[in-house]
Amino acid sequence: MGKITGFMEYERLEEGYKPPKERLKDYREFVIGLDDSQSKVQAARCMDCGTPFCNSGCPVNNVIPDFNDLVFQQDWQNAWMVLDSTNNFPEFTGRICPAPCEAACTLNYNADPVGIKSIEHAIADRAWQNGWVQPRVPRIKTGKKVAVVGSGPAGMAAAQQLARVGHEVTLFEKNDRLGGLLRYGIPDFKMEKSHIDRRIDQMKAEGVTVRTGVMIGSLPKGSKVTNLAKETIEPKQLLSDFDAVVLAGGAEQSRDLPVPGRDLDGVHFAMEFLPQQNRVVAGDKVKGQIRADGKHVIVIGGGDTGSDCVGTSNRHGAASVVQFELMPQPPEEENKELTWPYWPYKLRTSSSHEEGCDREFAIATKEFIGEKGKVTGVKTVRVEWKDGKMVEVPGSEQTLRADLVLLAMGFTSPVASILEGFGVDKDTRGNAKASTEFIGGYATSVPKVFAAGDIRRGQSLVVWAIREGRQAARAVDEFLMGFSDLPR
Ligand SMILES: Cc1cc2nc3c(=O)[nH]c(=O)nc-3n(C[C@H](O)[C@H](O)[C@H](O)COP(=O)(O)OP(=O)(O)OC[C@H]3O[C@@H](n4cnc5c(N)ncnc54)[C@H](O)[C@@H]3O)c2cc1C
Ligand code: SF4
Repeated sequence: MGKITGFMEYERLEEGYKPPKERLKDYREFVIGLDDSQSKVQAARCMDCGTPFCNSGCPVNNVIPDFNDLVFQQDWQNAWMVLDSTNNFPEFTGRICPAPCEAACTLNYNADPVGIKSIEHAIADRAWQNGWVQPRVPRIKTGKKVAVVGSGPAGMAAAQQLARVGHEVTLFEKNDRLGGLLRYGIPDFKMEKSHIDRRIDQMKAEGVTVRTGVMIGSLPKGSKVTNLAKETIEPKQLLSDFDAVVLAGGAEQSRDLPVPGRDLDGVHFAMEFLPQQNRVVAGDKVKGQIRADGKHVIVIGGGDTGSDCVGTSNRHGAASVVQFELMPQPPEEENKELTWPYWPYKLRTSSSHEEGCDREFAIATKEFIGEKGKVTGVKTVRVEWKDGKMVEVPGSEQTLRADLVLLAMGFTSPVASILEGFGVDKDTRGNAKASTEFIGGYATSVPKVFAAGDIRRGQSLVVWAIREGRQAARAVDEFLMGFSDLPR
């Protein structure tokens, strides 16, 4: 522990943001990380708890008190080694993780938590700047072939871990670039894509073969799931060509809103809108791009995806942006005595909200209205909860103007046809059925087929996908070799 009285002496300092006016001009990241002396002071706030709740609150179990202490001592290289030992991609999580570790931090019980995420961000960026992130090429090759289907954080973590213990790994991706939702979901202003590219270079140097534009199995006809594949491989073929297969295809089936007028032009899934902008930022030409310029935009869905639609619409130059949430407005402050060390229920205001957006809570959409086939408005009604049931408030109907409606109500499941192609059993929510047990975990009902990330757990977080990719890699290694030295 660096400074015994640090938590009493120093206030929490948040990372800075460029002002909204400036950051709305482009799609660049706008967070201003902590400098060396700020990081040292923030790390000094850590109490090095005997039972560090941060460590169990973090899905990849980052060894937080240790790297805090090393940052306090300004021993950045060893802090990097500690961070790298549990997390394949801390430069991703240091940018976009909601930081359940901070909710769990002991200081958060009656004060402000240690700024763990900003310290993680600082360590990861220094590691890249100083050339400490190098390929780890295995000395011995096992001769075993593993296919990883899907290149989101789960697939990337699984592929990297498996290549590092000497397996011949091929990472398949139906889109033209790797990264899953990191690439074609999360906007560049939250995480620039060069962070993915340099990791892919590292993974290639470690022996991972990447095959983009290759669809394993098929999507249903008319599916709106992003698919830039030029080639298809049948699951049967993959099973005969590889010793093990990891399914890491995410949960791509967007939740729809089948109310009258859903077919009107101008009503789109968020996941039609967001990937197009990321492609444009990457330099692609997107014919007929869905744009918000000068439009009145309504985003339906109050979560992360909705917030990303708000930020992107404002960057397009929308005339107005309104975001709907079906649930009532949460309290500004959580009741820490009830929630700590778990993820608290409270109002969350993202940087995109701060850039300009009206937020409407307890509101349901009854109908999309339009003229000449184009959406012009949304009919709504206020709702409240009685005896656990949602009821409409009589007389609260309203029509709001809208030229663009973005549906961001989450994802229901993986695309069923992909699981069915492999014959993998599904759980009650339609996800790939596989446990996370120490023995036999991540194995599906089909021999030698494993599943990790959103495809197994349902829509979740990047940090959970990394955890599952790492743990599934260990399960696959054990299955192939009879033992594994990979961490869980
Ligand atoms: C808009 C948006 C914003 C988000 N923001 C955040 C955030 O700020 N922080 C956070 O922690 N989480 C966020 N999330 C959630 C997070 O991105 C996901 O939980 C995470 O990416 C899941 O990782 P995954 O590897 O399981 O799947 P994915 O990232 O979905 O990757 C799956 C990949 O598999 C490919 N694939 C699927 N089927 C096939 C097939 N048959 N053949 C070949 N390839 C296939 C897909 O094309 C995709 O590239 C966000 C999600 C969205 C949609
Ligand atoms: S819970 Fe908070 S104070 Fe305790 S060790 Fe973790 S980061 Fe430090």
